[in-house]
Amino acid sequence: MTSTIFLSVAALLYTILIAIVYFSKPRIGSLENKIYKYLILVSLLSLVSELSLTIIPYETVPAFYNIMLKVYLVCCFSWIATFVAYIFIVGKNETSKSSFTTKKLPIMYLCLYVVSLLCILILPIEFYNTPTTKYSYGPSVNFVFATVGLVMLFSIIFLLKNWKRLKEKKYYPIVFFVVFFIMVVIIQKINPSLLLVNSTLSFITALMYFTIENPDMKMIAELDIARNQAERANAAKTDFLSNMSHEIRTPLNAIVGFSQSLAEEKDMPLSSREKARDILMASDNLLEIVNGILDISKIEANKLEIVNTEYDMHKVFDELVLLTKARIGEKAIDFRYHLDSSIPAVLYGDYVRLKQIILNLLTNAAKYTKEGFIDFKISTIQSGKVCRLIISVEDSGIGIKQDKINKLFMKFERLDLEKNITIEGTGLGLAITKRLVELMHGRVVVQSVYGKGSKFTVAIDQKIVSEKVGVSKQVEDTPLSVGGKKVLLVDDNKLNLKVASMLLSKYELDITQVGSGYEAIDQILAQKQYDLILLDDMMPKMSGVETLQKLKGIDGFSTPVVVLTANAISGMREKYLKDGFQDYLAKPIDKAELEKVIRKYLN
Ligand code: ADP
Repeated sequence: MTSTIFLSVAALLYTILIAIVYFSKPRIGSLENKIYKYLILVSLLSLVSELSLTIIPYETVPAFYNIMLKVYLVCCFSWIATFVAYIFIVGKNETSKSSFTTKKLPIMYLCLYVVSLLCILILPIEFYNTPTTKYSYGPSVNFVFATVGLVMLFSIIFLLKNWKRLKEKKYYPIVFFVVFFIMVVIIQKINPSLLLVNSTLSFITALMYFTIENPDMKMIAELDIARNQAERANAAKTDFLSNMSHEIRTPLNAIVGFSQSLAEEKDMPLSSREKARDILMASDNLLEIVNGILDISKIEANKLEIVNTEYDMHKVFDELVLLTKARIGEKAIDFRYHLDSSIPAVLYGDYVRLKQIILNLLTNAAKYTKEGFIDFKISTIQSGKVCRLIISVEDSGIGIKQDKINKLFMKFERLDLEKNITIEGTGLGLAITKRLVELMHGRVVVQSVYGKGSKFTVAIDQKIVSEKVGVSKQVEDTPLSVGGKKVLLVDDNKLNLKVASMLLSKYELDITQVGSGYEAIDQILAQKQYDLILLDDMMPKMSGVETLQKLKGIDGFSTPVVVLTANAISGMREKYLKDGFQDYLAKPIDKAELEKVIRKYLN
């Protein structure tokens, strides 16, 4: 007995120490922490009761002795009961939050606990007391032993059921419990006077201090600060990029507009027109780079949203074919296009992103193929309301080395530079493509033979809106008759006004130019009638959005207003349409887009 008293004293000392350390530090309010708090308190109480039973002679105050014996048993039982709660928490399946586990089980557990405590208190207890040996026995003690036995059995079954997860830290205490208690039961069977139960419970409690999820609050606070800083930096980056996009696009609008006009000028010498065309090409590349950087940073900041709408399949693919043919230009490339005839006419999905994905692949095929063919194929697998689009773009181009294929989708990675040095690019296209495909829950795969060609295949699911098999519509080429129609151009930048009216000049419209939202409102208030208003958004003092709101407040105002903006980061079109604009035109103004707007609102 004297030897076990030292064990109890040691257990009491380190449990006090752990209690001081544990309670002095701030903790997170997890369920495990709450349970652990009880385990420490119960351990302390049972050690104190055990020590008082060992030190104070029975004869001094027998009544006190009997009370302490019961306290001791209640503490031991409570420790075991709390430990069972810990096992439940560890084994709690995150996904199954049934009302049984969240409501009924805790109530059942509490009832069982109270009934058991009453049993321990009511059942008789005997005390064996000789000068050399002291121990308690009888029904009350047996009850506690029986519970320990049951919990052991439960723990063993639990561990066997979860044997694959035993490496996780939170399972360690349950393993300790089973192993130590098997040892304790064997030792106590041999010598019941050895008081080992309590020191073992305390030892497990002490070990749990290191296994329980108890992240340092200071560390959490520091992580929070770091996260906030990172989020702020990221927001600043996105803001910077959006401003940069605007700043670059505004002068680009002028460059593209004027060089386009020069390139088409019949009176200019051929060499000058060619130079203008080169300027136009360089500006297009610059624009592509700006767009690419914006897209990738938006994706990385998780700010790129997939916007699903109904769309006409054929329109999307017809446009892609036109753009690719323009990109191939004079090259000796046979462009083959095959669209599955059973494709539904109207689908539901993000067609803007779908187009971007496919256009990236087609543009690459055109860029990296000198001669031969480009095969653009769309097949479908339809199941219920879902249509899986399987789009493949195959070329007979330069191909990709096998060991380089895994670098293909990394941003800013350009392969085979010695061959590609003359081909413009940023190495962003495929990185964006892959991320967009993933955002749309699709897949992209690549097969390539170096020197022979490549094949990119994308599979994306889209919802079917109309089962009717669509018939490819001819691209509209009805003649335009818009001459004399009145258009109001609103932009604070004189150069931009000049570019826009120059682009509109061929339609022989009646154009009025104003330099601010105020002037635009004055025009409408002065009862001037317009058929269309092209309104810049980012203007000082009164933005385009504010101007639009004011215009809409004017009685009888019903002129279509199209936003003209250099703020062209993804998602802007949707934002402006939500703001109440009829349509959206990004700067630099695309001639084809402008024509579409004119057709739609003035024809
Ligand atoms: P880039 O702007 O350079 O075209 P991408 O991300 O679109 O950037 O492509 C990354 C690299 O992958 C390219 O630089 C090129 O080396 C290679 N690549 C992409 N598509 C093809 C293709 N169809 N044939 C051969 N190489 C390709």
